[in-house]
Amino acid sequence: MKKMPSLGLGTWKAAPGEVMEAVKVAINAGYRHFDCAYFYHNEGEVGAGIQCKIREGIVKREDLFVVSKLWCTFHKKSLVKTACLRSLKALKFDYLDLYLIHWPMGFKPGEEDLPLDSNSMIVPSNTDYLDTWEGMEDLVTTGLVKAIGVSNFNKQQVERLLNKPNLRFKPITNQVECHPYLAQKNLIDFCQSRGVSVTAYSPLGGSSNGVDLMDDPVIKKIAQKYRKSSAQVLIRFQIQREVIVIPKSVTMKHIQDNIQVFDFELEPQDMDDILNLDKNLRMARFPMTTNHKDYPFQVQL
Ligand code: NAP
Repeated sequence: MKKMPSLGLGTWKAAPGEVMEAVKVAINAGYRHFDCAYFYHNEGEVGAGIQCKIREGIVKREDLFVVSKLWCTFHKKSLVKTACLRSLKALKFDYLDLYLIHWPMGFKPGEEDLPLDSNSMIVPSNTDYLDTWEGMEDLVTTGLVKAIGVSNFNKQQVERLLNKPNLRFKPITNQVECHPYLAQKNLIDFCQSRGVSVTAYSPLGGSSNGVDLMDDPVIKKIAQKYRKSSAQVLIRFQIQREVIVIPKSVTMKHIQDNIQVFDFELEPQDMDDILNLDKNLRMARFPMTTNHKDYPFQVQL
């Protein structure tokens, strides 16, 4: 199987109208890994950007590592293929390199991504992600996807999946929120010890959430020391702990800068200083789902 590139371009909140150009800039800058999802509702544009660069002869499909995710309303085993085909159709590909279960929680099927009850809480489905996984495995068998994985699974959920009787394919990665304020040391140690890689989402602290990780004095000081930007330090930090990282950007300069992280190495003391910033600060808590039986995070009161 193709190796998953350690750095990819995130595409969440990359608006239609911007993201096609961002993808083209990224391919020119050397990105080969693209993190997409049905839920982002921009796969058509991401695909158009990639197809354009394939037509220009800059890259071939086989050079790329394209990831998409199964949304929660498609957890019923019989709906998994339908969901995957929707993403493939939007991207205009005949296979994905990796398909992830976006969240462990299943929601009521239907065209609404977020079916809500009268208390504005999510309406669950009665699915179990172990059954969903069997639908995911069928996609590998039929060749629609090369590999499968999970996202937003906690340690117990990853363990339960790995212990599933008759597991045909292991998850190759668990994509989770990860940055210095939520360093995820235990989850990373566990996943890596079981041969499951970890992919860090929101590695720069995410967008528009009031958390300014890039302005943290420790990060800024380290950035000055290496003559790099805060973003480059945050990305390099993950690569050095063997965590795959998918910063999002639609800004040309950011896209180009964010991949210039293979020409320096953070010293062990700097890695420790960054790890010491951990304060278990989770931004993606998905509050409307906290009642769900498979809610992955400890509810913080
Ligand atoms: P992020 O990558 O941590 O941060 C994105 C923000 O940082 C954007 O506002 C971006 O603005 C800005 N930025 C990027 N490069 C910069 C630079 N060099 N200097 C200054 N600002 C910079 O946040 P994210 O989008 O939440 O996470 C990344 C990707 O992970 C997503 O796009 C998505 O693909 C994935 N994700 C997955 C899940 C999941 O549930 N599995 C959840 C969240 C995210 P510009 O665009 O203007 O550069």
